[in-house]
Amino acid sequence: MGVNFCPVCGTALDDAAFVQEYWAGEDRQFLCWCAACAAMSTVVLAAAVVSHEPEH
Ligand SMILES: [Zn+2]
Repeated sequence: MGVNFCPVCGTALDDAAFVQEYWAGEDRQFLCWCAACAAMSTVVLAAAVVSHEPEH
């Protein structure tokens, strides 16, 4: 689960890549560093995606 591909260049994030999962409020975020393009990026999975609260 999480981020499997670099959002910048599309390279698969494997052992050479760095992915740190953390929470920001109710959002689940992944800080990614891609070894292929050296881009640092943050991917946000909104709480609405991972839960089913009708309020959102
Ligand atoms: Zn990349």
